[in-house]
Amino acid sequence: MKLAMIGFGQAGGKIVDRFLEYDDRTGSGIVRAAVAVNSAKTDLMGLERIPEENRVLIGQAEVNGHGVGADNELGAEIAENNVDEIQHAIDSIPTHEVDAFLIVAGMGGGTGSGGAPVLADHLKRIYTIPVYGLGVLPGADEGGIYTLNAARSFQTFVRETDNLLVFDNDSWRQTGESVEGSYEQINGEIVRRFGILFGAGEVRKGQEVAESVVDSSEIINTLAGGGVSTIGFASEDVDVDAGGGLLSRFTGGDPGDELDTAETTNRITSLVRKATLGRLTLPCEVEGTERALLVLAGPSAYLNRKGIERGRTWLEDETGSMEVRGGDYPRRESEVAAAVLLSGVTNVPRIKRLQEVAIEAQDRIDDIEAEREQNLEDLVEDEEDELEPLF
Ligand code: GDP
Repeated sequence: MKLAMIGFGQAGGKIVDRFLEYDDRTGSGIVRAAVAVNSAKTDLMGLERIPEENRVLIGQAEVNGHGVGADNELGAEIAENNVDEIQHAIDSIPTHEVDAFLIVAGMGGGTGSGGAPVLADHLKRIYTIPVYGLGVLPGADEGGIYTLNAARSFQTFVRETDNLLVFDNDSWRQTGESVEGSYEQINGEIVRRFGILFGAGEVRKGQEVAESVVDSSEIINTLAGGGVSTIGFASEDVDVDAGGGLLSRFTGGDPGDELDTAETTNRITSLVRKATLGRLTLPCEVEGTERALLVLAGPSAYLNRKGIERGRTWLEDETGSMEVRGGDYPRRESEVAAAVLLSGVTNVPRIKRLQEVAIEAQDRIDDIEAEREQNLEDLVEDEEDELEPLF
């Protein structure tokens, strides 16, 4: 599947940069075009792979390249005011070669949190291809304002996109790592999961055609209907050259091959379980998922239709969904990986908790605001009113 990716804000830009690196390294060809949008000049300068002409600095009149702090209302306002400049960069993208837009943003900050939903609304009005969001939730230790920003942005971003794929920093942070080091690692995890998922629909010239190939329309149909999505992932190292690729699958007759088939099937089904029941990008209850897509990636000798079929049936039971798609994605990497897209999840305690904390933060901000005038007066005025201001 070919995507036009737009990284909004610092986290968004860094993650899109990382997708470009993934594309280069694996040749997966997912990113047809990459744009970064930010109100902070230094963040744009820190990017490595997004072409300079595709880096859009917005809000020069409002904040002069210094960013919006964590003020996402200002972020939204600046995006509204500068939507023509963003559109100008998007005009250079050959959108007829693109299957969908993916707007990536950290939802706890200011620029991306406020701007990404504004851009989604704008793109949906203009283009007929789907507009997806990849929203990153902040860690719980980032504090009330980040949680409040994320909760408000989440509501808006879900409404404005055709589907919001969520990644929760909180369930992925590493203890003992520096914030930067930990983002490095987290961004790697994000790109790995989304890379397999979106790479699946992208069969290139010279590549083996999958036995039951996942194509872009299956990804789009799984995401259609909107709502919130999460991804599960599991992988196992294998020897790329074992079995000689396609050859071993078709030799047949040899008892050794029978064993291989059973092993391959079992490996696939256990990977599907691990992916679904392990750590999701957004932790949630799997039961009640509206639609799901299973992608099995790896050297073709390790993929088989029976395993995928079993994995798919198991996913149907586990989710209770009647709309579970599945297929393979042959690639010459030394691992077999299962990516499970759960689309239209509704039982997500993490979001309810985020909203509770956000409401507490909002009440606290309102209290502080109400007390502020009085507190300032208490500080500045002397008790007996003996002093007189200058004028
Ligand atoms: P903005 O530039 O104003 O949009 O704000 P940032 O993107 O800097 O930060 C928004 C939120 O994104 C933060 O609160 C973090 O939760 C998260 N974040 C920042 N940088 C990264 C990153 O590199 N990776 C990930 N996964 N999250 C990040």
